[in-house]
Amino acid sequence: MAISFADEVRNELARMTSERRCCQHAELAALIRCNGTLSIAQRQIGLILTTENAAVARKIFKLFKLNYDLFTEIVVRQKMRFHRHNSYQVKIPPQKGTREMLISIGVLNELYQFNYRLDYDMLSKECCARSYIRGTFLGSGSINHPDRGYHLEITCDREEYAQQLLSFFQSFQLNCNIMYRKHSYVIYFKSSEDIATFLNLIGAHTALLKFEDYRVMKNIKNDVNRRVNCETANLDKTITASMQQIDDIELITASRGIDTLPKSLQEIAQLRISHPDLSLKELGQLLNPPLSKSGVNGRLRRIAQAADKIRLKS
Ligand SMILES: [Zn+2]
Repeated sequence: MAISFADEVRNELARMTSERRCCQHAELAALIRCNGTLSIAQRQIGLILTTENAAVARKIFKLFKLNYDLFTEIVVRQKMRFHRHNSYQVKIPPQKGTREMLISIGVLNELYQFNYRLDYDMLSKECCARSYIRGTFLGSGSINHPDRGYHLEITCDREEYAQQLLSFFQSFQLNCNIMYRKHSYVIYFKSSEDIATFLNLIGAHTALLKFEDYRVMKNIKNDVNRRVNCETANLDKTITASMQQIDDIELITASRGIDTLPKSLQEIAQLRISHPDLSLKELGQLLNPPLSKSGVNGRLRRIAQAADKIRLKS
């Protein structure tokens, strides 16, 4: 099965681990807010993070191992029947130290509940802010292949948290909105510029290159289409005008004779009859000396007026 563009981005991000503790903590906080559930046993707290991406599960595991001395394990849950994907759980069973860890990175309050308020102190450094956004994408983000239309989204269970993320993203000059879908709040990005900025922000540089390649290709295609349409439209206009001019000339020839016109008009009339598909500019270049487009237009207008006079009389 071909891997989706979203999984390509996730895999790329899962492979990179920031060197700095501050960033590792920020990324973990985002992942826990997106994917975490608490468990409590014997007055101790445990934590389970669930993801469908194996590389993401390994990254979460690694981030915990690098930072905390807690018993942590990965459990694979095979989904039967209609589901194609396994799911992976990073489990920290209820034990001493989990509560302190969660409080230290700001995701647990004194009531042993998840705290969804963004901690702007923690996110004040740019490195940490980027890591937090990366964790958010890894936890609950998705992106379309650019061939399928520009779309990047982050899903949140809670409206309050979605609103906070929205303003956080907007502080990076990103344009995004929230919609409500299947009991979730979805923050979505629609413009290719914003999606490119987002990918750059979270450090998905390989994915960004690929995205930009498609974007450039698409722009070239659109450009060519636009130009072809434009040329076709101009050609249509030229032909329609030319047919009217030939009508005029034939009418004059049949009723009063073309030689009743001044020499300069006879000359352009003959050229028009022999070259019905040329533009005015091209007709002018056939004259000796050449005449400008507006000059040619002026002469043809006088022919049209002469023809109109004949039509009025008849
Ligand atoms: Zn940092």
